[in-house]
Amino acid sequence: GKLERLGVQESVEAIFPPSELAAFLSDLPVDVSVVDEAGIADCDAVVTRNHFDALFEVDWIHSTQAGVDRFPLEALAEEGVALTNSTGIHGRTVGETVAGYLLAFARRLHDQIASATERRWERPAWDEAFTLPGTTACVVGTGTLGRGVADVLGSLGVETVGVRRSDDPLPEFDEMYAIEALHEPIATADFVIVTVPLTEATRGLFAASEFDAMRSDAYFVNVARGAVVDERALIDALEAGDLAGAALDVFETEPLPETSPLWELDEVIVTPHAAAYTRDYVRDVGGIVRENVERSRRGEDLTNRVV
Ligand code: NDP
Repeated sequence: GKLERLGVQESVEAIFPPSELAAFLSDLPVDVSVVDEAGIADCDAVVTRNHFDALFEVDWIHSTQAGVDRFPLEALAEEGVALTNSTGIHGRTVGETVAGYLLAFARRLHDQIASATERRWERPAWDEAFTLPGTTACVVGTGTLGRGVADVLGSLGVETVGVRRSDDPLPEFDEMYAIEALHEPIATADFVIVTVPLTEATRGLFAASEFDAMRSDAYFVNVARGAVVDERALIDALEAGDLAGAALDVFETEPLPETSPLWELDEVIVTPHAAAYTRDYVRDVGGIVRENVERSRRGEDLTNRVV
């Protein structure tokens, strides 16, 4: 049927106020309103962060996130529900966040901020601080996030090595490896940065043998999804000194439980799944939704379609 009622589901509240997106889209020739779970039933299409069973009844779902691992992809396909995602908009935000982590480790900022919160005037040891030019980052996943990370790190003088399913080169990366050869580039990198989607192929991709393969003075960064990493194996490697540290935006359980040892480790930076946050998020997601409403009304294929 023709798209007439577009709902902005309240779960987008985790990223921005739903009313802001509804206002941004209010000039479209469709009825746009904020809907709770029950309100989904009245919509032809819904913009949402979370999955609800009521979504099986709509024609089109737009995910405000790039990762669609929380949606039942096969069941949606069987029911003929289209699903689009928000890939393409997080390159610069996540790139700058990752650069921030690397700069914190290199310039010891996390340590000094931690000291300052306790009013301690404590300088790094003479041989702790370093600079980024000449270091190497291995970026696993070379899509929007991976390229954004490589672009920002490249401008800071970091050598970038990409890992994807093929070893076909990309202009943002100095070198490229296929995923089968993962242990080669992670064995030499100063930083290993995970930017792959969570799929059956990437679940548990980083476990004990990967942390073994990495240098003991290397840092590990995960801005993808928690389940790509065996968190227990990471904690063990960090506690044993087999890694220098880690910066983590995503976790097996979110919010990260208060009892997690990750909160306590000095060389671990924990951020609350906020690597892509920006005050421009409404406009960035809204641009994709607007484009697809127009395409839908013209009877054209949707962009960013995953199901
Ligand atoms: P893209 O689809 O643009 O990129 C994913 C890349 O991963 C592809 O280019 C693909 O490269 C590569 N890839 C896929 N499967 C494999 C595999 N089995 N082995 C190696 N490489 C693989 O997605 P985005 O970059 O936009 O997002 C990536 C993920 O990051 C999302 O799925 C989401 O989970 C997470 N994310 C986290 C955010 C946060 O706030 N922390 C924000 C946004 C995204 P190729 O096809 O060449 O193999």
